[in-house]
Amino acid sequence: MRIIRAAHLGMCFGVRDAIALALEHADAGPLTILGDLVHNPTVLNRLEAKGIAVAQDLAAVKTPTMMVTAHGTSERSLTRSRAMGLTVVEATCPLVRVAHRAVAALVRDGYHVVIIGQRDHVEVRGLTGDLDRFDVVLNDDEVFALEEHPRIGVAAQTTQAIEKVRHMVALIRQRFPRSEVRFLDTVCKPTKERQSAAVEMARQADVVIVVGGRGSNNTRELVKTCARYCDRVHHVQTDADVRPEWFDAAQVVGLTAGTSTPDDVIDRVEARIREIEAPARHLAAVADRLA
Ligand code: SF4
Repeated sequence: MRIIRAAHLGMCFGVRDAIALALEHADAGPLTILGDLVHNPTVLNRLEAKGIAVAQDLAAVKTPTMMVTAHGTSERSLTRSRAMGLTVVEATCPLVRVAHRAVAALVRDGYHVVIIGQRDHVEVRGLTGDLDRFDVVLNDDEVFALEEHPRIGVAAQTTQAIEKVRHMVALIRQRFPRSEVRFLDTVCKPTKERQSAAVEMARQADVVIVVGGRGSNNTRELVKTCARYCDRVHHVQTDADVRPEWFDAAQVVGLTAGTSTPDDVIDRVEARIREIEAPARHLAAVADRLA
């Protein structure tokens, strides 16, 4: 059994820098992160071990310093936090800031903003938090439910699959032929690289293992993308989720991981697959000798 890793996989620079910033501030004094810094339980456990608190809303923050996650937040939310006397540390990824600037430009130029993404995702709430009117769409039905506006400006959650985003933009253009539709591509480069590398890998694999948190949007998108090219795709959070029966008769196993998955978690999943393979190889060798 051959194991191939996607050419681009695992933790992106945005998440890596946000974790480093959290650890740095935790050394300097008590820190609360607002929301999940990343959607990966392994990373969250490590932060907890460092004494970093996590609060899901501002009212639950009990430390003088609060950190905004790599997913970013709105200006309104930052103002509210500072008005409560909190010192705010922003771990917002520079590529999420690019998306914020794109949305601001669309508003400034008089476009009705449509975000392609998950309505309740923290990044999307940050992107739309300063807008009074906007729409969020994630599937064809939601595009059909949109109202007409003379100018429609479209941007995307940074971790959406670009093919899907292009499909949605084409659908919006088709649905509103009289509107001027402007699309600003805000899907981030690491997401695009991981998506295209996953396609290359899944095309060659009998079984694909995608490593990442269940709540991670880009990990789930990798699962969907791989499933278009390979029938046997499994999403695992850690090596403990890997099942031996998944690899029956598999010649090539592909491995990829979401942008919040640490390297050592990927390494342990790969080691577990090799461990599963070892007795199978031994049995095959015994059978050969007996034949
Ligand atoms: S997935 Fe993209 S936007 Fe999100 S933190 Fe990583 S690099 Fe930044």
